[in-house]
Amino acid sequence: MLTTYMSVTLGMLLLSGVIAGTLMSGFVMREEKQNIANEIGIVTELYFNTTSSVAGENAALLELNTIARHYDGLIQIVSVDGAMAQYASGSKWNEVMNVRYTQEEISRMLIAVSDLDASSVRFAQEKGAFQMLIGTKPVIQDGVATHVVRFYVDTTQARGAVGMVYAEVVLVSLIAVLISVIAVYYTTARLTRPFMEINEIVQKYAKGDYNIRIPISSVEESTQLALSFNNMADQLKDLEATRRSFVANVSHELRSPLTSMKGFLEAMQDGTIGPDEYEKYIGIVLSETKRMAVMVNDLLDLARIESGKTALKLEIFDINELIRRTLITFEARIYEHHMEVDVKFAQEQYYVEADSAQISQVLRNIIDNAIKYSPDDSKLRIATYAMKREIYVSIQDSGQGIPEADIPHVFDRFYKVEKAHTPSTQSGTGLGLSIVKRIIDQHNQTITLKSTKGKGSTFTFTLKRAPVPKRAPAADGGKKNGT
Ligand code: ADP
Repeated sequence: MLTTYMSVTLGMLLLSGVIAGTLMSGFVMREEKQNIANEIGIVTELYFNTTSSVAGENAALLELNTIARHYDGLIQIVSVDGAMAQYASGSKWNEVMNVRYTQEEISRMLIAVSDLDASSVRFAQEKGAFQMLIGTKPVIQDGVATHVVRFYVDTTQARGAVGMVYAEVVLVSLIAVLISVIAVYYTTARLTRPFMEINEIVQKYAKGDYNIRIPISSVEESTQLALSFNNMADQLKDLEATRRSFVANVSHELRSPLTSMKGFLEAMQDGTIGPDEYEKYIGIVLSETKRMAVMVNDLLDLARIESGKTALKLEIFDINELIRRTLITFEARIYEHHMEVDVKFAQEQYYVEADSAQISQVLRNIIDNAIKYSPDDSKLRIATYAMKREIYVSIQDSGQGIPEADIPHVFDRFYKVEKAHTPSTQSGTGLGLSIVKRIIDQHNQTITLKSTKGKGSTFTFTLKRAPVPKRAPAADGGKKNGT
């Protein structure tokens, strides 16, 4: 850009300089010639028409001298026989003055001018010790050419003036070029800076360093680009952080059970654990294997939901019925822990529009946690009710509860409240609730958690209410409030 601007500016300035100089020099020379032509006329008039009195003659001669001095020139009045009267501005004309014209030269001057109108002036330009312009005019008296008046003018000064104009044009051009170069440099630098910066920063991103941002300086067009760019970098950074922590978590979660299983199996192989203890340790290894299988399944579920590959299979179904069926699958564990289950449906049937397989998983994960994190003989309350266009499902336990500080994080992947001390039978994968959250998000619904440490937790989620299907099974009255 800089080179283009500079060449164009320089080219234009030089062109205009040359044009201005040529015009100027043409103008100066034309002026000079015009002056000479005028003065030759005056000289002829003075010399040939005012010689009647001595005083007049003297005055005329004085005038001729004045004219010669004024133009720094030489006036010659050459008679056809070769006699000359000369008036010069100074000694520099001596050389010219000493030259005598031959008869031939005078004839040539007269012949040359006789073709012309008698009053016209012919010009010759001569280069000697200095540059001069010579005007020649024949004097014709009574139809006969008697004299030739020649006016030599030193044009060195006039040419010098033109040269100075040239020099000035060049100087001004150089200054203009310098100023435009500076201006163009700053403009192009300002225009290209954001792109150079983005370029440098992108190269850093490519190396995995997402911390640098483009400094946002002013309200240029590039600011918008910089803003979008920084925004993109923030998202990339978050994504990268999530990916790293996810990989770290998965590796950790898989490594610990694998290490302990490997340890037990090696100890069994080398005899550290005797055959009488095999049963106990095989039990541990089996439960670890199951836990890993659960985790891998959870991870696969999560990956499927997050990749968006599982399009929701929306259907209209009775959520109360789904809750009943789900609770049946937990019957054995509920009995085992002597839990008291209380189910309250505000209305016998609540039709919702959702993916029933996925909502079933939501129920299973929440109920599983409620049983897992509650002591024996505790209570589990499940309720459904309608509000506006939503159906609310709330699952409340009277278990250990979740500390306030952990509440915002329980839906995060791999987040566990009891970090290392959780007994292995109870410890989960930390993925259950994040799957729940992703499913509810996919349905564009909400899930909330209220919990008090030591008292219990309540998970409440919403579902989109649907109209009762035309061929809905008739409500069978007596089943309210129970499983
Ligand atoms: P996990 O597989 O460990 O249960 P979740 O994502 O289901 O993972 O839950 C995350 C954490 O939230 C659990 O580790 C547990 O500490 C806590 N939590 C979840 N549900 C309950 C609950 N009903 N009562 C107490 N704590 C709970």
